[in-house]
Amino acid sequence: MKYALVTGGSRGIGRAVCVKLARMGYFVIINFVSNQTEAEKTLSMVKEAGSDGELLKFDVSSTEESAKALEAWQAAHPDDYIEVLVNNAGIRKDNLMLWMDQDDWYKVLNTGLSAFYNVTKPLLKAMVLKKYGRIINMASLSGLKGLPGQTNYSAAKGGLIAATKALAQEVAKKRVTVNAVAPGFINTDMVEGLDIKALSSQIPAGRFGEPEEVAALVGFLASPEASYINGEVISINGGLYT
Ligand code: NAP
Repeated sequence: MKYALVTGGSRGIGRAVCVKLARMGYFVIINFVSNQTEAEKTLSMVKEAGSDGELLKFDVSSTEESAKALEAWQAAHPDDYIEVLVNNAGIRKDNLMLWMDQDDWYKVLNTGLSAFYNVTKPLLKAMVLKKYGRIINMASLSGLKGLPGQTNYSAAKGGLIAATKALAQEVAKKRVTVNAVAPGFINTDMVEGLDIKALSSQIPAGRFGEPEEVAALVGFLASPEASYINGEVISINGGLYT
């Protein structure tokens, strides 16, 4: 059995990634923080896709909680390791810098950037020792371009992109790849409240993307075929920003 962990797998892009990895034959560990019902729905979809999985609830923004959950998983599976990690969980708390609360700055940084450390660190050693691993980080167009009203989110995603490039060079010799995906606007709960019609008119493709389209790219980066792609950031945005 080969294992993959998807953080924020209960909804949106994370859910679609879980289903894609299930189709690729992975046993999928579905992380979430609060939405048990939606996480269970993802697990059913993973089973319908012909594989199996389990739920692993923990807050990726907490170093202690993440380490505890992942160490417990490893202790329960002494002969196995997680060979695919998708750091996908993320939140946004948009505001102009002038009005941004300190709390909203740190919450977004901790969930979008520190979580990369919290979750990757406990899993990295096994990938390096087994000489095979795939780490895919969910960045954003906001982290490449910077978007007004999102200094916290842009900082988190920009930092994640830089961390991706740095770690890729540390572990490349051990056949571990570390890449980032940078979506534009994707139809999930996260874009609720946005003016879809107005924004779509600015996107060359004329529409928002679907979670499954992002999952297809993640699936490729997770596959053995992507073995020579390392430290890359791949945009998936309908031509919005190149
Ligand atoms: P979403 O529909 O809002 O789902 C967010 C997921 O993250 C949920 O599964 C949620 O779990 C989980 N999560 C949030 N905080 C967490 C925490 N502290 N610990 C563990 N899990 C946590 O978001 P999405 O649109 O699919 O976004 C997925 C990723 O893509 C994010 O990193 C986001 O920044 C990025 N992205 C999205 C877009 C877009 O347009 N949608 C564009 C660019 C980048 P619960 O269900 O338990 O709350």
